[in-house]
Order: sequence, then C-alpha cells, then structure tokens
Amino acid sequence: EIRTRFAPSPSGYLHIGGARTALFNYLYAKAMKGSFVIRVEDTDQERSTPESEKIILDSLEWLGIKADEGVREGGPYAPYRQSERLDHYRPFTEKLLAAGNAYPCFCTDEELEAKQERSRKLGLPHVYDGKCRNLTAEEAKAKIDAGEPHAIRFKVEPNEIAVNDLVQGKVKFDARLIGDFVIVKSDGFPSYNYAVVIDDHEMKISHVIRGVGHLSNTPRQILIHEALGLPLPTYAHISEIVGTDRKKLSKRRGATSVLFFKELGYLSEGLVNYMALLGWYPEDAVEFMPDGELARKFDVARCSKSPAMFDFFQANDESEFDPTKLSREELGKIINGKSKLNWLNQKYLRHYPTDQVWDLALPFLEKDARVAALIRSDEANVRRAFASVKEYIYTLEDAVPYLKEIFREKVEMDADAKAMAGTPEAKTVLEAFLALLDEKKPATPDEFGEAIKETGARSGQKGKGLFMPVRAAATGSLAGLELNVLFSLLGWQIVQERVRFSLD
Ligand code: GLU
Repeated sequence: EIRTRFAPSPSGYLHIGGARTALFNYLYAKAMKGSFVIRVEDTDQERSTPESEKIILDSLEWLGIKADEGVREGGPYAPYRQSERLDHYRPFTEKLLAAGNAYPCFCTDEELEAKQERSRKLGLPHVYDGKCRNLTAEEAKAKIDAGEPHAIRFKVEPNEIAVNDLVQGKVKFDARLIGDFVIVKSDGFPSYNYAVVIDDHEMKISHVIRGVGHLSNTPRQILIHEALGLPLPTYAHISEIVGTDRKKLSKRRGATSVLFFKELGYLSEGLVNYMALLGWYPEDAVEFMPDGELARKFDVARCSKSPAMFDFFQANDESEFDPTKLSREELGKIINGKSKLNWLNQKYLRHYPTDQVWDLALPFLEKDARVAALIRSDEANVRRAFASVKEYIYTLEDAVPYLKEIFREKVEMDADAKAMAGTPEAKTVLEAFLALLDEKKPATPDEFGEAIKETGARSGQKGKGLFMPVRAAATGSLAGLELNVLFSLLGWQIVQERVRFSLD
C-alpha cells in the first residue's frame, strides 16, 4: 500500500511551501488509492506551540487536504504527535547502543559551540570530533550514574552514501562531512533525523515526499534505517519555490500563510490547483483540474527538479515585505494580476454554481455597509447581479466594487472626471460612443470593447484620449473597474444613460 505523510513542525503558520509539500503527499496517496497521514513533529520543545499546530491543521482543513490518519483523525498508529511517542523511540535507542551504533555523549553545549566557532573561523564545515566515541563502557556508565546530562550520538563511518531520489535522481554524500550526529538530545527527546526514521517505519510510510531542503538530511536517515535493519522508503525531494525574482521564497518575502489567501477571497480549490502546478505539470497540459481531476492525474515521478516560480507577488527587488501588514492599495501594487492563481481562481468561480459561490462570498459582501444594506433590502436582486458578476471576478472580494457600481443610484463625477469629460475632443468621443451603443447594442465585454474601438475610429482618438473620457463619463472617476466588464454588467442602456447625463 502507498502511504505518504506530511510532518509539520508546529513552529509557525502553514506557508505556501509547506502546503505544497502536504498537497503533493495527499495527491500522490489519492492518485495511488493509498493513505495520507499527518504527523506533528513537535520534539523541539522551545519552538513548538499548540497555537501553531492548530493554525497548520486548520489551514490544511481549509485547503481540503484531508488526512486518513493523523492527530485529529486518530488511526492505527496513534499517537501521531511525536512528543507523545517517546516510549516508541526508546527500544530502538537501546538496540543502537547495544550494537555499538550509538554512544552517549557528555559534551556540553558550550564546549560544542566553541568547537563550532573554531571551525567557522577556519572556514571548515563543522563535524563533531568524536570526543565521546572513545569513552569505555565503564567510563560512560560512571558518568551516567553520577547524573551527568548526556545526549546519544549515532556513529557514522567514513563511507559514501547514495540517495536514490524519485525526483532528484541519484545523489551522493560523503559521510566524513556528516560526522557522528545526535539522535537523542539531553532532554530525552529524539532529534528530528531520528524520530522521522522510527515514525516513518512504524507508520509504514512508503513514500517520503518533502522539500529539497531536506535532501541533505536524508543520508543521516538512511544510515539509521540501515543500522536498524529497516527497509528504506522511497524518497522524492521536490523543487524549491522561488519568487518572480528567482530568489527562494522566505517568510519575509512572500512565503505567506495560506490562510491569507482565504482572507483575500481566493477559493481553496483555486489555490490548491495553483500549488499543484508548482513543480509538477500534467502530461496533457490541461491546467484547470476541478472535481477530483487533480488527484486522478497527479504523479510524483513527473515532478521537476528545477525551481518552481511562485508568480503571485511581483518581488523584483531586495526589499522585504510582509503582505499581511500591507493595505489593500499597497497590496494591489505588488500582487501580479496576471498570475496563474488569478486565472485559475476565476475558472473555479465560473465553474461552481452561483448559490455555492454566493455562500462563500457573503462574508466579503457583508463587510461592505452599502452592499450589506442592498442584500437586506432585496437579496434576490443582488443575487441576480452576483450571478453575472461572478463570471468576471478573480476573487470573492472583487465582487464588492462591481455590485456597488451596478446598484449605484446616480453617477457623480469627481473634479478630475469632469475635467476629463469636458473638453471638446472628449465630447466628440462621447457623442460617437452614444451613437454606437444605439447601433450595436453591445452585450458582452468583447462587444463593448469593439464598440469603444469603433468609437476611436470615428472620433479620431485613441489610447487615453479615447478610454478616459468614456470611463469618466460612465463611472464618474478616472480609475476603477475593468470597463468592458462593468459595461456588460450594467447593460448598454444604463451606460448610455450615464454618458448622456454627463453631457448635459
Ligand atoms: N518536521 C519536518 C519539517 O517541518 C518534516 C521533514 C520531513 O518531512 O521529513 O520540515
């Protein structure tokens, strides 16, 4: 049976990178009719918090990445939280100690840090010098009996270790650069590399799919597997995610919590579809994969080694930014409106029935006092308008300005708009536009686009000289919604009425 797992350390929120790892494990398990496990790796007592665990699990739930077994679901290999599994690690530690594959280490943190500092100054990689490796059994016992705090280290012999990776291919490591490493810390908690091996074994994990950043840990994990005589899982280390500047995403540069996308009005299905394309691509090149299509098509063996580009934020300089702290206006400047996420989210908004999208949109609509009032007074009417609006928006939040514009009682032009629409050239444009509306009675955004183009031909204006007067007259302002879409939602008669009114 194919069994995969997502093993988050609860020391922050779930960002795009982690969510993509979870997703690939989930999709692969689903594609192979296997099981997907969520295991919480909270052995770092200082950094792990229950709040973070909750945010991560809630985020996965929002994304629809459902575990077959896990901390919330339970399952045959419970507990699924490492801090509750300490007695599972002990027998393996005894075995490694008895076989001489591991030994107690009494070096203090200060001692180790001083040695590390020395290596750093010499520009050498830091490798444990093996000081405690040579203690005799009696010496070690005496220290333990005297209550000296100690860790347990794994003995690494100076060989070459090869990782056969499904995505990265064969990668070799020199064990001399690894050195004896800690498997049980002095607080009695297992180290990451150790707990992972025991848990993956006990939970019968067949495929370890994780970020390529963990590739360098893999030789350590392989050595532990081998020392214990445990079969190796299949490894798949998936590509790194970079921003539009081709630099690795970091917490401060775009590696935002996935729940932030929920706040911005993205559908979880849109975000999931987008994340699936970060490092994987379907054979048939059909990128929109609704209704379970994604899980039917996914294959981890088709993942690419090259970095995947997260194109949502246009990060093109060195500056750090925290998107959650920016205003909508500032955000608008760094969000790439042409990102694949917007394209996909729009497809999902169009794909789902209006009632379903309406329910999801309601919290966004009600945040706006005007739209909330409209809904209270005539919900059926607003729903009807929403059914059309939903075809053109990219996020749920986008529906608000369109609805406000559709239900606007009268257009009041601001000073800039008045000036723009008041020149003789502008009047020529507007007269031509009015005539064309009558002649062509445009309905779709494309038809409105054509009518404006034709207006340009007849009035001899183009670019700003053409669009701005039309925008100013019809909306009362020089900036705003996509004109052709707005016009198709208003209908040509209302557009005509507004333009006529502006000419009076
Ligand atoms: N707890 C590790 C992390 O959060 C998981 C690594 C693994 O999948 O083995 O990075």
